[in-house]
Amino acid sequence: MTGVFSLLPDGRHGLLGPPFDGGADLSRHLAAGGYAPLPAPGRLLDRIAAVGLRGRGGAGFPAAVKLRTVRDAAGPPVVVANGEEGEPGSVKDRWLLRHRPHLVLDGLRLAAALTGAARGHVYLSDAPAEQAVRQALAERPLDLPVDVVRAEHTYVAGEETAVVRRIDGGPALPTAKPPRPYESGVGGAPTLVANVETLARIAALHARPDDADLVAGAHLVTLSGAGGAAALVEVTAGTHLTVLADLAGHGRAGAVLLGGLFGGLHGAGWRDLPLDHDGLSAAGGALGCGALYFLRPEDCPVAVAAEATAYLAAQSARQCGVCVSGTGALATTLGAVARGEASDGTAETLRRWSRQLPGRGACGLLDAAAHLAATLLTHFPDRVDAHRGSACPACADPAPCDGRRFTVPVP
Ligand code: SF4
Repeated sequence: MTGVFSLLPDGRHGLLGPPFDGGADLSRHLAAGGYAPLPAPGRLLDRIAAVGLRGRGGAGFPAAVKLRTVRDAAGPPVVVANGEEGEPGSVKDRWLLRHRPHLVLDGLRLAAALTGAARGHVYLSDAPAEQAVRQALAERPLDLPVDVVRAEHTYVAGEETAVVRRIDGGPALPTAKPPRPYESGVGGAPTLVANVETLARIAALHARPDDADLVAGAHLVTLSGAGGAAALVEVTAGTHLTVLADLAGHGRAGAVLLGGLFGGLHGAGWRDLPLDHDGLSAAGGALGCGALYFLRPEDCPVAVAAEATAYLAAQSARQCGVCVSGTGALATTLGAVARGEASDGTAETLRRWSRQLPGRGACGLLDAAAHLAATLLTHFPDRVDAHRGSACPACADPAPCDGRRFTVPVP
């Protein structure tokens, strides 16, 4: 069962609420102050900076810095609403596009006004989301031309250089950086590639300035795991992970996989971790797109790491040699550990690779695989050691590489 919940204080509302059809979404959005004129772009940009809004695509980069950089770049800019969420355990972006298309489009037109862009794109792979966005644009066209661009869903299709490449008519595959899109993006123009939750929060900041701190500090989080419910939840930054585990019926969880597949596996002490970029980074994790996968005490972290790296290896775009060999080797070796076929030196080999490989691919896929191995060795050394010579019951079946274990249906 999948649910949608708000845990914001005092009954205040953020981006969530009951689903609406397109027409109702427009009336609700207008009633909440949406599509209000923007008399002074600088004032909204200052507000975004003052409340410290950070991007919600995964990296958590300050939104105001990104907007100003694109605004100040040479040439007329382009803005892109990026709704392609590659992490199988995240549903927030597709939910927003399906149920709050006007909030996202309002954020896109504000981003265009703040950067001086005269063209916009909505980039996605989800068919119901595309239908909702097209219907919203037909109901209330924006005052700039907007193209809706569809990509095939893959783990890397939402990476910002893959977004630019696909909009320009190529495959949705990352390219080497530099240049980054803010320097040379769609058609060579400076391009703001903004996650749709980031844009929705910009629209909410404009419509409800009195709620600015609440809007900027809240996160949409997808919770899942075996033995409990999946849920899309809006929470304030700093909420302890134990609260989220309890909410979705994962109170027995013994470990958590953070950030989709990007933030690594965490064991002892994970319940007291605060849900925010800085707190999770300080603990050696990452918030990423805000997806949390809880492991039951009977789930084996070795099996989860093997399955996740096998999925990442299968999702490699196979265009960087170091990713093809590195992600493949990590998946093969973690699979061998899971099957009880590791040798005495296997853990040290994995540790060395997890130090050497990050940062060497064109996108973060290789980093995610290396971080999974590193956190498995750091937080579960005894479980890795226990697999020397024999697999545990949870690892008895070979790990599939289709990501099914981590996939959450959109509520
Ligand atoms: S790191 Fe891997 S997934 Fe990313 S672009 Fe290179 S080959 Fe593709």
